[in-house]
Amino acid sequence: MSIPLLDLKKQYLSIKEEIDQAVLQVLDSCKFIFGPEMKAFEDEIAAYCGTRHAVAVANGTDALVLALLACKIGPGDEVITSPFTFFASAESIANVGATPVFVDIDPLTLNMDANLIEQKITPRTKAIIPVHIFGQMANMEKIMELAEKYHLKVIEDAAQAIGARYQGKKAGSIGDAGTFSFFPTKNLGGYGDGGMVVTSDNQIAEKIRLLRFHGQKSKYYYQEVGYNSRLDEIQAAILRVKFKYLDQWNTARRNKAETYDQLLKPLTDKGLAVLPGRDPKAYGVYHLYVMRTDHREKMAMALGKQGIACGIYYPLPLHLQAAFTYLGYQTGDLPAAEEACTQALAIPCYPELTQEEQEKIAGVIYTVFEP
Ligand SMILES: *Cc1c(COP(=O)(O)O)cnc(C)c1O
Repeated sequence: MSIPLLDLKKQYLSIKEEIDQAVLQVLDSCKFIFGPEMKAFEDEIAAYCGTRHAVAVANGTDALVLALLACKIGPGDEVITSPFTFFASAESIANVGATPVFVDIDPLTLNMDANLIEQKITPRTKAIIPVHIFGQMANMEKIMELAEKYHLKVIEDAAQAIGARYQGKKAGSIGDAGTFSFFPTKNLGGYGDGGMVVTSDNQIAEKIRLLRFHGQKSKYYYQEVGYNSRLDEIQAAILRVKFKYLDQWNTARRNKAETYDQLLKPLTDKGLAVLPGRDPKAYGVYHLYVMRTDHREKMAMALGKQGIACGIYYPLPLHLQAAFTYLGYQTGDLPAAEEACTQALAIPCYPELTQEEQEKIAGVIYTVFEP
Protein backbone atom coordinates (compact mmCIF):
# COMPACT_ATOMS: atom_id res chain seq x y z
CA MET A 1 0.00 0.00 0.00
CA SER A 2 1.62 3.22 -1.09
CA ILE A 3 0.18 6.55 0.10
CA PRO A 4 0.82 9.78 -1.82
CA LEU A 5 0.94 13.25 -0.24
CA LEU A 6 -2.19 14.10 -2.21
CA ASP A 7 -4.32 11.76 -4.33
CA LEU A 8 -5.59 13.77 -7.29
CA LYS A 9 -6.45 10.65 -9.24
CA LYS A 10 -8.76 9.33 -6.53
CA GLN A 11 -10.50 12.68 -6.39
CA TYR A 12 -10.90 12.91 -10.15
CA LEU A 13 -12.40 9.43 -10.32
CA SER A 14 -14.93 10.37 -7.65
CA ILE A 15 -16.33 13.19 -9.85
CA LYS A 16 -15.18 12.06 -13.27
CA GLU A 17 -18.55 12.14 -14.97
CA GLU A 18 -19.33 15.69 -13.94
CA ILE A 19 -15.85 16.94 -14.82
CA ASP A 20 -15.76 15.26 -18.21
CA GLN A 21 -19.16 16.63 -19.08
CA ALA A 22 -18.17 20.16 -18.03
CA VAL A 23 -15.04 20.04 -20.18
CA LEU A 24 -16.90 18.60 -23.17
CA GLN A 25 -19.52 21.28 -22.90
CA VAL A 26 -16.83 24.01 -23.12
CA LEU A 27 -15.27 22.27 -26.11
CA ASP A 28 -18.66 22.14 -27.74
CA SER A 29 -19.30 25.83 -27.08
CA CYS A 30 -15.94 26.81 -28.62
CA LYS A 31 -15.92 29.73 -26.21
CA PHE A 32 -12.52 29.41 -24.56
CA ILE A 33 -11.60 32.78 -23.07
CA PHE A 34 -13.78 35.27 -21.19
CA GLY A 35 -16.98 33.30 -21.32
CA PRO A 36 -19.93 32.36 -19.14
CA GLU A 37 -18.05 29.79 -17.02
CA MET A 38 -15.49 32.33 -15.81
CA LYS A 39 -18.19 34.88 -15.10
CA ALA A 40 -20.35 32.38 -13.19
CA PHE A 41 -17.33 31.14 -11.22
CA GLU A 42 -16.44 34.72 -10.24
CA ASP A 43 -19.99 35.28 -8.99
CA GLU A 44 -19.91 32.04 -7.01
CA ILE A 45 -16.59 32.84 -5.33
CA ALA A 46 -17.65 36.41 -4.48
CA ALA A 47 -20.87 35.11 -2.91
CA TYR A 48 -18.95 32.41 -1.02
CA CYS A 49 -16.39 34.85 0.37
CA GLY A 50 -18.92 37.57 1.06
CA THR A 51 -17.07 40.13 -1.08
CA ARG A 52 -18.54 42.50 -3.63
CA HIS A 53 -16.17 41.33 -6.35
CA ALA A 54 -14.14 38.36 -7.50
CA VAL A 55 -11.82 38.76 -10.46
CA ALA A 56 -10.39 35.64 -12.10
CA VAL A 57 -6.79 35.71 -13.29
CA ALA A 58 -4.26 33.26 -14.69
CA ASN A 59 -2.68 32.05 -11.43
CA GLY A 60 -2.20 32.87 -7.75
CA THR A 61 1.05 34.72 -8.36
CA ASP A 62 -0.59 37.06 -10.86
CA ALA A 63 -3.42 37.55 -8.38
CA LEU A 64 -0.87 38.93 -5.89
CA VAL A 65 0.94 41.06 -8.48
CA LEU A 66 -2.28 42.56 -9.84
CA ALA A 67 -3.65 43.17 -6.33
CA LEU A 68 -0.43 44.98 -5.39
CA LEU A 69 -0.59 47.11 -8.55
CA ALA A 70 -4.26 47.89 -7.93
CA CYS A 71 -3.28 49.04 -4.42
CA LYS A 72 -0.74 51.34 -6.10
CA ILE A 73 2.27 49.58 -4.58
CA GLY A 74 5.51 50.08 -6.53
CA PRO A 75 9.14 51.19 -6.44
CA GLY A 76 10.22 52.78 -3.17
CA ASP A 77 7.47 51.05 -1.18
CA GLU A 78 7.97 48.39 1.47
CA VAL A 79 5.59 45.48 1.92
CA ILE A 80 5.65 43.32 5.05
CA THR A 81 5.19 39.57 4.70
CA SER A 82 6.16 36.18 6.09
CA PRO A 83 9.49 34.50 5.38
CA PHE A 84 7.89 31.07 5.84
CA THR A 85 5.76 30.65 2.73
CA PHE A 86 5.83 29.76 -0.95
CA PHE A 87 8.19 32.05 -2.90
CA ALA A 88 5.39 33.86 -4.78
CA SER A 89 4.23 35.70 -1.63
CA ALA A 90 7.41 37.80 -1.75
CA GLU A 91 8.27 37.40 -5.43
CA SER A 92 5.12 39.36 -6.28
CA ILE A 93 6.29 42.25 -4.08
CA ALA A 94 9.66 42.36 -5.82
CA ASN A 95 8.00 42.05 -9.23
CA VAL A 96 6.07 45.30 -8.77
CA GLY A 97 9.35 47.01 -7.81
CA ALA A 98 8.65 47.18 -4.08
CA THR A 99 10.82 45.78 -1.26
CA PRO A 100 9.74 42.71 0.74
CA VAL A 101 10.24 43.14 4.49
CA PHE A 102 10.14 39.86 6.39
CA VAL A 103 8.70 39.46 9.87
CA ASP A 104 9.47 36.33 11.88
CA ILE A 105 6.78 33.72 12.50
CA ASP A 106 4.79 32.54 15.48
CA PRO A 107 6.10 29.01 16.11
CA LEU A 108 2.60 27.87 17.10
CA THR A 109 0.70 28.69 13.88
CA LEU A 110 3.77 29.17 11.61
CA ASN A 111 2.13 32.40 10.42
CA MET A 112 3.76 35.82 10.59
CA ASP A 113 3.91 36.87 14.27
CA ALA A 114 1.58 39.89 14.36
CA ASN A 115 3.30 41.17 17.50
CA LEU A 116 6.56 41.63 15.59
CA ILE A 117 5.08 43.65 12.73
CA GLU A 118 4.96 47.11 14.28
CA GLN A 119 8.72 47.33 14.80
CA LYS A 120 9.23 46.74 11.06
CA ILE A 121 6.91 49.56 9.94
CA THR A 122 8.72 52.55 8.42
CA PRO A 123 7.47 55.65 6.57
CA ARG A 124 7.90 53.62 3.35
CA THR A 125 5.70 50.73 4.46
CA LYS A 126 2.59 50.62 2.26
CA ALA A 127 1.09 47.19 2.74
CA ILE A 128 1.07 43.91 4.62
CA ILE A 129 0.65 40.53 2.94
CA PRO A 130 -0.39 38.03 5.60
CA VAL A 131 -0.15 34.46 4.32
CA HIS A 132 -2.59 31.93 5.76
CA ILE A 133 -0.02 29.20 5.70
CA PHE A 134 -1.11 25.57 5.29
CA GLY A 135 -4.72 26.77 5.56
CA GLN A 136 -4.37 28.30 9.04
CA MET A 137 -5.41 31.93 9.34
CA ALA A 138 -2.92 34.61 10.35
CA ASN A 139 -3.80 36.89 13.27
CA MET A 140 -6.07 39.14 11.21
CA GLU A 141 -7.43 41.03 14.19
CA LYS A 142 -4.05 42.47 15.09
CA ILE A 143 -3.00 42.91 11.46
CA MET A 144 -6.12 44.94 10.61
CA GLU A 145 -5.59 47.05 13.74
CA LEU A 146 -2.05 47.90 12.62
CA ALA A 147 -3.20 48.56 9.06
CA GLU A 148 -5.73 51.05 10.30
CA LYS A 149 -3.27 52.75 12.63
CA TYR A 150 -0.60 53.17 9.94
CA HIS A 151 -2.87 53.45 6.86
CA LEU A 152 -1.55 50.30 5.22
CA LYS A 153 -3.22 48.13 2.62
CA VAL A 154 -3.72 44.47 3.49
CA ILE A 155 -3.63 41.80 0.79
CA GLU A 156 -4.32 38.35 2.17
CA ASP A 157 -2.41 35.59 0.42
CA ALA A 158 -5.10 32.96 0.83
CA ALA A 159 -3.68 30.63 -1.83
CA GLN A 160 -3.66 27.78 0.70
CA ALA A 161 -6.74 28.80 2.64
CA ILE A 162 -9.87 29.01 0.50
CA GLY A 163 -12.80 28.35 2.82
CA ALA A 164 -10.88 29.09 6.03
CA ARG A 165 -12.43 31.62 8.41
CA TYR A 166 -11.34 34.08 11.05
CA GLN A 167 -13.96 35.25 13.54
CA GLY A 168 -16.54 33.99 11.06
CA LYS A 169 -15.13 35.89 8.08
CA LYS A 170 -13.83 34.03 5.06
CA ALA A 171 -10.14 34.06 4.21
CA GLY A 172 -9.55 36.74 1.59
CA SER A 173 -12.50 38.89 2.64
CA ILE A 174 -10.92 40.65 5.62
CA GLY A 175 -8.17 42.75 4.04
CA ASP A 176 -8.47 45.22 1.16
CA ALA A 177 -8.06 42.26 -1.18
CA GLY A 178 -7.49 38.52 -0.96
CA THR A 179 -5.89 36.19 -3.45
CA PHE A 180 -6.43 32.53 -4.29
CA SER A 181 -4.53 30.02 -6.36
CA PHE A 182 -6.20 27.16 -8.20
CA PHE A 183 -2.94 25.31 -8.80
CA PRO A 184 -3.89 21.60 -8.99
CA THR A 185 -2.66 20.75 -5.49
CA LYS A 186 -4.50 23.55 -3.68
CA ASN A 187 -7.68 22.84 -1.68
CA LEU A 188 -9.64 24.03 -4.72
CA GLY A 189 -7.39 22.98 -7.58
CA GLY A 190 -7.99 23.12 -11.31
CA TYR A 191 -6.40 20.93 -13.96
CA GLY A 192 -3.89 23.60 -14.86
CA ASP A 193 -3.20 27.11 -13.56
CA GLY A 194 -5.74 29.56 -12.23
CA GLY A 195 -6.15 32.35 -9.71
CA MET A 196 -8.58 34.89 -8.29
CA VAL A 197 -8.65 38.18 -6.42
CA VAL A 198 -11.58 38.93 -4.12
CA THR A 199 -12.29 42.44 -2.85
CA SER A 200 -15.15 44.66 -1.82
CA ASP A 201 -13.30 47.73 -3.07
CA ASN A 202 -14.80 48.85 -6.39
CA GLN A 203 -11.63 50.62 -7.53
CA ILE A 204 -9.35 47.66 -6.84
CA ALA A 205 -11.71 45.32 -8.70
CA GLU A 206 -12.03 47.65 -11.67
CA LYS A 207 -8.28 48.14 -11.88
CA ILE A 208 -7.59 44.39 -11.86
CA ARG A 209 -10.25 43.80 -14.53
CA LEU A 210 -8.47 46.38 -16.68
CA LEU A 211 -4.94 45.09 -16.00
CA ARG A 212 -5.70 41.40 -16.62
CA PHE A 213 -6.74 42.18 -20.18
CA HIS A 214 -3.90 44.38 -21.49
CA GLY A 215 -5.36 47.53 -19.98
CA GLN A 216 -8.08 47.43 -22.60
CA LYS A 217 -11.00 49.75 -21.92
CA SER A 218 -13.03 48.91 -25.01
CA LYS A 219 -12.11 46.71 -27.91
CA TYR A 220 -8.63 47.72 -29.19
CA TYR A 221 -8.53 50.89 -27.09
CA TYR A 222 -5.97 50.67 -24.30
CA GLN A 223 -6.16 52.83 -21.22
CA GLU A 224 -2.79 51.68 -19.89
CA VAL A 225 -0.13 49.02 -20.29
CA GLY A 226 -1.48 45.88 -18.67
CA TYR A 227 -1.00 42.12 -18.68
CA ASN A 228 -2.47 39.02 -20.19
CA SER A 229 -3.75 37.15 -17.14
CA ARG A 230 -6.99 35.27 -17.54
CA LEU A 231 -8.73 32.16 -16.31
CA ASP A 232 -9.79 30.11 -19.32
CA GLU A 233 -13.21 28.55 -19.72
CA ILE A 234 -12.08 24.94 -19.40
CA GLN A 235 -10.43 25.64 -16.04
CA ALA A 236 -13.40 27.68 -14.86
CA ALA A 237 -15.80 24.87 -15.79
CA ILE A 238 -13.67 22.30 -13.92
CA LEU A 239 -13.33 24.58 -10.92
CA ARG A 240 -17.08 25.16 -10.78
CA VAL A 241 -17.67 21.42 -10.52
CA LYS A 242 -15.02 21.04 -7.80
CA PHE A 243 -16.19 24.14 -5.94
CA LYS A 244 -19.47 22.37 -5.10
CA TYR A 245 -17.44 19.92 -3.01
CA LEU A 246 -15.06 22.41 -1.41
CA ASP A 247 -16.75 22.70 2.00
CA GLN A 248 -17.25 18.96 2.20
CA TRP A 249 -13.58 18.35 1.31
CA ASN A 250 -12.36 20.98 3.76
CA THR A 251 -14.44 19.37 6.51
CA ALA A 252 -12.89 16.02 5.62
CA ARG A 253 -9.40 17.56 5.82
CA ARG A 254 -10.22 18.92 9.27
CA ASN A 255 -11.42 15.50 10.39
CA LYS A 256 -8.21 13.85 9.13
CA ALA A 257 -6.21 16.48 10.99
CA GLU A 258 -8.12 15.78 14.16
CA THR A 259 -7.47 12.06 13.77
CA TYR A 260 -3.73 12.74 13.45
CA ASP A 261 -3.88 15.03 16.48
CA GLN A 262 -5.25 12.15 18.50
CA LEU A 263 -3.02 9.46 17.04
CA LEU A 264 0.17 11.50 17.47
CA LYS A 265 -0.51 13.32 20.74
CA PRO A 266 1.68 11.00 22.84
CA LEU A 267 4.69 12.20 20.82
CA THR A 268 4.01 15.80 21.76
CA ASP A 269 3.60 14.82 25.42
CA LYS A 270 7.11 13.36 25.26
CA GLY A 271 8.45 16.47 23.51
CA LEU A 272 9.37 14.50 20.40
CA ALA A 273 7.15 16.39 17.97
CA VAL A 274 4.95 19.46 17.68
CA LEU A 275 1.61 19.16 15.91
CA PRO A 276 -0.08 22.00 13.96
CA GLY A 277 -1.19 24.75 16.32
CA ARG A 278 -4.66 26.22 16.28
CA ASP A 279 -5.91 29.73 16.85
CA PRO A 280 -9.27 29.47 18.65
CA LYS A 281 -10.53 32.46 16.61
CA ALA A 282 -9.89 30.66 13.35
CA TYR A 283 -11.30 27.79 11.32
CA GLY A 284 -8.42 26.17 9.45
CA VAL A 285 -8.67 24.08 6.29
CA TYR A 286 -5.45 22.05 6.51
CA HIS A 287 -4.03 22.57 3.04
CA LEU A 288 -1.17 20.58 4.55
CA TYR A 289 -0.75 18.83 7.88
CA VAL A 290 2.71 19.98 8.88
CA MET A 291 4.25 18.59 12.04
CA ARG A 292 7.58 19.57 13.49
CA THR A 293 10.30 17.36 14.82
CA ASP A 294 14.06 17.38 15.32
CA HIS A 295 14.04 13.89 13.83
CA ARG A 296 12.70 14.89 10.41
CA GLU A 297 15.25 13.02 8.29
CA LYS A 298 14.74 9.76 10.17
CA MET A 299 10.99 10.15 9.95
CA ALA A 300 11.01 10.92 6.22
CA MET A 301 13.22 7.91 5.62
CA ALA A 302 11.01 5.55 7.63
CA LEU A 303 7.87 6.77 5.83
CA GLY A 304 9.55 6.56 2.43
CA LYS A 305 10.57 2.94 3.08
CA GLN A 306 6.90 2.06 3.59
CA GLY A 307 5.81 3.86 0.41
CA ILE A 308 4.33 6.79 2.32
CA ALA A 309 5.02 10.20 0.81
CA CYS A 310 5.89 13.23 2.90
CA GLY A 311 7.16 16.68 2.03
CA ILE A 312 9.36 19.41 3.42
CA TYR A 313 7.46 22.72 3.51
CA TYR A 314 9.67 24.74 3.42
CA PRO A 315 13.38 23.85 3.34
CA LEU A 316 14.71 27.43 3.24
CA PRO A 317 13.00 30.63 4.47
CA LEU A 318 12.55 33.39 1.91
CA HIS A 319 14.91 35.88 3.57
CA LEU A 320 17.80 33.44 2.97
CA GLN A 321 16.95 32.61 -0.66
CA ALA A 322 19.62 33.48 -3.23
CA ALA A 323 17.10 35.62 -5.11
CA PHE A 324 16.79 37.89 -2.06
CA THR A 325 20.48 38.18 -1.17
CA TYR A 326 20.22 41.85 -2.21
CA LEU A 327 17.90 42.49 0.75
CA GLY A 328 20.84 41.84 3.09
CA TYR A 329 19.37 39.35 5.57
CA GLN A 330 21.68 37.02 7.49
CA THR A 331 21.18 33.61 9.08
CA GLY A 332 19.87 34.24 12.59
CA ASP A 333 17.79 37.29 11.65
CA LEU A 334 14.47 35.42 11.78
CA PRO A 335 15.17 32.48 14.08
CA ALA A 336 11.67 31.04 14.38
CA ALA A 337 11.28 30.76 10.59
CA GLU A 338 14.77 29.31 10.26
CA GLU A 339 14.09 26.70 12.93
CA ALA A 340 10.75 25.74 11.35
CA CYS A 341 12.59 25.11 8.07
CA THR A 342 14.77 22.52 9.79
CA GLN A 343 11.83 20.73 11.46
CA ALA A 344 8.69 20.95 9.33
CA LEU A 345 7.39 17.84 7.63
CA ALA A 346 4.02 17.43 5.89
CA ILE A 347 2.36 14.04 6.08
CA PRO A 348 -0.55 12.96 3.83
CA CYS A 349 -3.78 14.77 4.76
CA TYR A 350 -6.42 14.95 2.04
CA PRO A 351 -10.14 14.24 1.84
CA GLU A 352 -9.81 10.76 0.36
CA LEU A 353 -7.30 9.48 2.94
CA THR A 354 -8.74 6.61 4.99
CA GLN A 355 -8.64 5.98 8.73
CA GLU A 356 -6.72 2.79 8.06
CA GLU A 357 -4.09 4.72 6.09
CA GLN A 358 -3.78 7.29 8.86
CA GLU A 359 -3.27 4.56 11.44
CA LYS A 360 -0.60 3.00 9.28
CA ILE A 361 1.17 6.35 8.89
CA ALA A 362 1.04 7.01 12.64
CA GLY A 363 2.36 3.50 13.26
CA VAL A 364 5.36 4.10 11.02
CA ILE A 365 6.03 7.44 12.72
CA TYR A 366 6.06 5.72 16.11
CA THR A 367 8.71 3.26 14.96
CA VAL A 368 11.09 6.22 14.47
CA PHE A 369 10.93 7.03 18.14
CA GLU A 370 11.17 3.50 19.48
CA PRO A 371 14.20 3.03 21.68
C1 LIG B 1 0.50 28.37 -4.53
C2 LIG B 1 0.82 29.65 -3.82
C3 LIG B 1 0.94 30.87 -4.50
C4 LIG B 1 1.02 30.99 -6.00
O1 LIG B 1 0.02 30.45 -6.71
P1 LIG B 1 0.26 29.97 -8.23
O2 LIG B 1 -1.13 29.71 -8.70
O3 LIG B 1 1.12 28.76 -8.21
O4 LIG B 1 0.89 31.12 -8.95
C5 LIG B 1 1.11 32.02 -3.75
N1 LIG B 1 1.19 31.97 -2.41
C6 LIG B 1 1.09 30.83 -1.73
C7 LIG B 1 1.16 30.86 -0.24
C8 LIG B 1 0.91 29.62 -2.41
O5 LIG B 1 0.85 28.48 -1.71
